Amino acid sequence: MKHIDVTNVRVVIIGGGGTGAALAYDLATRGFTCTVIERGELTSGTTGRHHGQLHSGARYAMGDREIARECMEEVNILRRIAADTIEMNYGLFLALTEEDETFVDRFLTACDEAGIPARQLLPAEALRYEPAINPATRTAVLVPDGTFDAFRLPLQFFASARARGARIRPWHEAIGIDTNQGVVSGVTVRDLRSGPSRERHLPADIVINAGGPWAGHIARLAGVTVDITPAPGTLIAVRGRLCNMVVSRLRPPGDGDIVVPQRKLSIIGTTQWTTDNRDALLARDEDVPFLMRCADELVPGFSDQPIHAVWAAARPLAGAAGPAEDGRAHSRDFAVVHHKGDGAAGLYTIIGGKATTLRAMAQITVDRLCSDLGVTIPCTTHIEPLLSHRDYYRRVSA
Ligand SMILES: Cc1cc2nc3c(=O)[nH]c(=O)nc-3n(C[C@H](O)[C@H](O)[C@H](O)COP(=O)(O)OP(=O)(O)OC[C@H]3O[C@@H](n4cnc5c(N)ncnc54)[C@H](O)[C@@H]3O)c2cc1C
Repeated sequence: MKHIDVTNVRVVIIGGGGTGAALAYDLATRGFTCTVIERGELTSGTTGRHHGQLHSGARYAMGDREIARECMEEVNILRRIAADTIEMNYGLFLALTEEDETFVDRFLTACDEAGIPARQLLPAEALRYEPAINPATRTAVLVPDGTFDAFRLPLQFFASARARGARIRPWHEAIGIDTNQGVVSGVTVRDLRSGPSRERHLPADIVINAGGPWAGHIARLAGVTVDITPAPGTLIAVRGRLCNMVVSRLRPPGDGDIVVPQRKLSIIGTTQWTTDNRDALLARDEDVPFLMRCADELVPGFSDQPIHAVWAAARPLAGAAGPAEDGRAHSRDFAVVHHKGDGAAGLYTIIGGKATTLRAMAQITVDRLCSDLGVTIPCTTHIEPLLSHRDYYRRVSA
C-alpha cells in the first residue's frame, strides 16, 4: 500500500442532504479534509420532504433481499448511534383482501431470509397493538419499522462531522467543477448570501456529487453525463396522530400504501411520476383523492381529518448510469460511479439510495474512494453515538 496522508486529501461534497451529511461524517472520521457545499439550507432537497419512515426493509424483502437486509442492519445501527431522532414503534403490514392474504407466506419467508424479525398476528392481536387500523384486517404482520425526524438525523451527522473538522457551507452553490488534464482540481462556488459577485475556486482533490435528483445537472458541470430522471411522489399530512405504528399494505410495494405517524401528524404516501423540472415540484391534484382513499383503507377516518400539508419530493431514478468507467451498484437501489473514464478522475457521483441507509451509503462510497487512493482506513461510523442535532445550531451561533 502507498503511504498517503489523507489529511492532505481535500474532498468537496456537493449537496447538503442526508447523503452529504453522512459522507462528511465518514470522511472526517477517517481523517480527510472535507467541505460540504449546499446551495440552500441544509436538507432543503428531498431529504427535508420525505416520509420519515425508518425502513426495516420488510417493504423491499419480497423484491430484493439485499436491500432489505441492508435496511435492517442500518436500523439496528441507527438505534444505537442516533437514538434521539428515532421512534421505534414498529410497523404493521395489513392484509385487507383475499389477494393481500396470498402474499403472507412469501412475505414472511422473504423477511426471514433478509434477517428481519416478522411475526404474523391475528386481527384481534393487531388491533390491540394499533387500535386505529382497519377492523376488517384479515391478518397482519408485525415488523421492526420505525420513524425518524427527516431534518434532525442529517443534522446529527453534520454536527458530528463538524466536530471532527469538516466545513459545512449552506447557501453555497456549485456552478462549475474544474478539471486539469482529466483530473478534478476544484469546484467554482457562488456564495448566495452575498450576491452573484462572490464567486471563488475551492480547490479539491476529490469531488463527490451528492446532489440527489440534481446529480445529473451537477455532473454536467464537469462535462459528464449521468442519466438521472427525477421521479416525484405526492405526500399528504393530516392533523392528528391517528396511529403510533407505521401502517403498510401487505402486497408488493405500490402507490399509497404507507401511513406514517410524525409527531402530531399522520402522513400518507406516495405516488410516482417523472419530471424534467426538479426545482418547482408541485403535488398533482389527482393524487389527493387517490391517496386519501388509500389511507382510509389502512386507517379509517384518515380523510376526515383537516389537511395540514400536501407536497411532493423527488427520487433520483437511475436511468443508465452514464458512460462511467466502473463502480456499479452495491445494492440495486444505490450506485457509486467514479468518472475517471469520462475525463474527470476524482469525481464521484452517488445515485439513488434511501434516507434510512445514509450511513451505509457513505461507508461504501468512502471505502471505494480509499481503495482507489490505495489506502486502508476502516470505517468506524457504526460505533460511536452521534452528537445531538442541537449541537449543529449551538456551534453555528457560538
Ligand atoms: C416521496 C418520497 C418519500 C420518501 N420516503 C422515504 C422514507 O420514508 N424513508 C427513507 O428512508 N427514504 C425515503 N425516501 C428517500 C429519501 O428521501 C432519499 O433517499 C434521500 O432524502 C436522498 O437524500 P440526498 O442527500 O441524496 O438528496 P437531497 O436531499 O435531494 O440532497 C441533494 C442536495 O443537493 C443540493 N444541490 C443541488 N444542486 C446543487 C448545487 N449546484 N450546488 C450545491 N448544492 C446543490 C440540493 O439543494 C439538495 O439539498 C423518500 C423519497 C421520496 C421522493
